[in-house]
Amino acid sequence: MNSAAERWDVLIVGGGPVGACAAALLQRAAGSGRRALRIAVAEPARPVRAAEDEPLDARVSAFSRASERILAATGAWARVDAHRIQPYERMCVWPAHLPARSPDALLFDAAAVGEADLGAIAENRLVQCAALEAFEAAGGTMLTGGFTGLAIREEAVEVQLGERKLQCRLLVGADGARSRVRESIGIAVQTASYGQTAIVANVRTERPHERTAWQRFLGEGTLALLPLADGTSSIVWSIDETAARERLAMPQAQFEAALTDASGGVLGALTLCTERTGLALRRLRAERFAAARCALIGDAAHVVHPLAGQGVNLGLLDAAALVECVLQAQRVGEDPGALAPLRRYERWRKSELAPMALAIDGFNRFLAHGQGPLARAAQHGLAWVNRSEALKRLFITQALGLSGELPAAARSGGAAFS
Ligand SMILES: Cc1cc2nc3c(=O)[nH]c(=O)nc-3n(C[C@H](O)[C@H](O)[C@H](O)COP(=O)(O)OP(=O)(O)OC[C@H]3O[C@@H](n4cnc5c(N)ncnc54)[C@H](O)[C@@H]3O)c2cc1C
Repeated sequence: MNSAAERWDVLIVGGGPVGACAAALLQRAAGSGRRALRIAVAEPARPVRAAEDEPLDARVSAFSRASERILAATGAWARVDAHRIQPYERMCVWPAHLPARSPDALLFDAAAVGEADLGAIAENRLVQCAALEAFEAAGGTMLTGGFTGLAIREEAVEVQLGERKLQCRLLVGADGARSRVRESIGIAVQTASYGQTAIVANVRTERPHERTAWQRFLGEGTLALLPLADGTSSIVWSIDETAARERLAMPQAQFEAALTDASGGVLGALTLCTERTGLALRRLRAERFAAARCALIGDAAHVVHPLAGQGVNLGLLDAAALVECVLQAQRVGEDPGALAPLRRYERWRKSELAPMALAIDGFNRFLAHGQGPLARAAQHGLAWVNRSEALKRLFITQALGLSGELPAAARSGGAAFS
């Protein structure tokens, strides 16, 4: 390595919402003091924050309470423009054969557990930019350049970032589902197509969204309507690839009529206010989340179906869990790239992820797509859950992201590292 400036303790490849959050958490907790870590994030190009009056982007996510707390601990949540985020108070889930307002439709209300809301819908880019800003404000360094390769040595990882050579003691792959870091380390994945495409767009609705996330199981897939801060809603319409191709090619008025029909008219007529985009859906799970001096987080480690709105939430939990394991090692003077804390992170997050991924695939198989007796049983199950306050509370805790073994940042937000 030629210059000292190119040596880092921790290099995070990928400054998406998950990588940026891990970087900001680590920088805030360990970027200064006697044992300060030198931390950098590499992203091909610096993302640009939307102007205040710019219309809302169609790539949004539902951030759980756990995610809000983690983002608060990074300093990012305070930097997110409040008028661009929409807290949602209720979630209504119903199968196509029932009206949304039927007593058998499943309704989760934050008030039932004494909470003001279940989480917030925010643009992915807004959260990403806020986390990167928080990272830099805490003294972190952002490098612009795409990761192209690595060599793992005993003392460090040598990393190629375009023309640039770097060295780090811990390399974190947060470079998304097609992770080149994961591929370069040689970590195998289990992956398969769902055979579905998610059509994503923002729509105006004839009736107000009622600060409610609506989700209809269609038999041919799911349609989610997420409430947005400007009164519009974000749609995620996940259906079989061929049907999606047809609908994406439809003239706008015909598409809007089909979409309104798929929503069961729950918010009246729906009209597009952005382009529609189709995203092919795959499931993916890396066989390992950690290797010598390397760890994977977020979509680089696992991708789940968007119907449960969990992808980025799971990724932020990875980020907080990894940072917690690395900090424990750093406090006792251990190398941040030591294998033991990385293995601890891997065991922790794999055991949390496995049941969640199984449940999400079950929802997709039996509730969203199923037609047979199992699907009918699952749909009756919704009504059954609806009648049990205890079961409903359990599901609401899941939706808040507050179940399982949580990292400290998800339990106590900004107080976690003070
Ligand atoms: C339709 C849809 C709806 C969804 N809705 C929700 C929801 O409501 N709630 C939820 O929790 N999740 C949701 N998700 C999932 C969520 O979008 C992802 O889980 C999340 O974006 C993953 O974040 P990430 O930072 O791990 O990866 P990404 O967002 O993919 O970011 C990866 C980053 O790495 C960078 N990168 C890539 N290659 C390189 C390289 N070679 N060198 C350097 N940098 C690189 C990229 O530029 C990017 O910034 C949804 C997904 C889909 C498809």
